[in-house]
Amino acid sequence: MKIPSTLNMISDLIAIPSISCNDPLKDQSNQTVIDLLATWCNELGFKCEIMPIPNYSNKFNLIATLGIGNDGLVLAGHTDTVPYDNWQFDPFKLTEQDDRLYGLGTSDMKAFFALALTAVEQVLANGIQLNHPITILATANEETNMAGAKALNSNLRAKYALIGEPTGLKPIRMHKGIMMDSICLHGQSGHSSNPCLGNNALEGMYQVIGELLKWREQLQVKHNNSAFQIPVPTMNLGHIHGGDSPNRICADCELYVDLRPLPGMNLTELRSTLHQLVKNTLQNSGLDIKFKVLFDGIPAMETPNDAEIVTITERLTNQPSGAVAYATEAPYLQALGMQTIVLGPGDIEQAHQPDEFIATNRLQPMIDILTQLIVQCNQ
Ligand SMILES: [Zn+2]
Repeated sequence: MKIPSTLNMISDLIAIPSISCNDPLKDQSNQTVIDLLATWCNELGFKCEIMPIPNYSNKFNLIATLGIGNDGLVLAGHTDTVPYDNWQFDPFKLTEQDDRLYGLGTSDMKAFFALALTAVEQVLANGIQLNHPITILATANEETNMAGAKALNSNLRAKYALIGEPTGLKPIRMHKGIMMDSICLHGQSGHSSNPCLGNNALEGMYQVIGELLKWREQLQVKHNNSAFQIPVPTMNLGHIHGGDSPNRICADCELYVDLRPLPGMNLTELRSTLHQLVKNTLQNSGLDIKFKVLFDGIPAMETPNDAEIVTITERLTNQPSGAVAYATEAPYLQALGMQTIVLGPGDIEQAHQPDEFIATNRLQPMIDILTQLIVQCNQ
């Protein structure tokens, strides 16, 4: 049983580019990161399953399990990073300066794996008998479409899950969901001098926008959760394009909508309400309506306040659990039956930023939290 030091593991993970990007030219495989994690997990006695992601030839999840049973603890993270630009430091070389470790994926969230493995190594070195299994879960494509988390199935069974996303060592039990859709209206072009010659899609979209804003108001009256900084669900109209010339009737108009529901709001229902609202608004307009899914979405997540994983992590961190505005893989682990908490050593302010870093004084506290969590989930 021999794995490298925590710092060397962080440095090795940072050195392997594993960028996820919707631009295929920038998108990279995560296989080398997965293989390296599997090597270390093997050293510690884990049984490793490398799981290919459907529809991708070069993306994988690692499910590494120590022990047997379906009542264990999953320590989960994603192996990919976002792309980088405008870095002063080398993004792929771990640089220690001013009590910070700089590198792409330090906070979000490769360092977490090194801390999790160090914690497991310490537990084993202390001769603690594991009554319940520990699983290291390393996923692909969290930063783009969650393909790794979505590919997980009932082979992965556990009682508890901790996701080490950057939360500044605070337990997070709630986040909002996301979905993004496009609404396309098609009418008829014609000379602007005679409205009878065409059917104006832009004017149809104007009506749709009016109804969308009314719907948003209703949603915000109906749904409110004070744990969130923005306590209501949000809807953003982010892009509109229609027509070409002032003297032509606009034949086509497209609008992009981003919806961020609170826990308890269902993505499928929201999407069908959205579609129905647009259809009702334009029912006598003669305009063709098409909907495109820009991002099928991530559900909102909420782990009950009295769940054991919440109580344990609140005690270990000495902090109340809270809510964040960004989405994680938590809903997918929850759907597999795990009590899920998001708790990691990085800060979200550093994630996706040039010169991303993790403060060195976050490392040992996170190792301690994980070590004690393993012990407490083992009872
Ligand atoms: Zn992340």
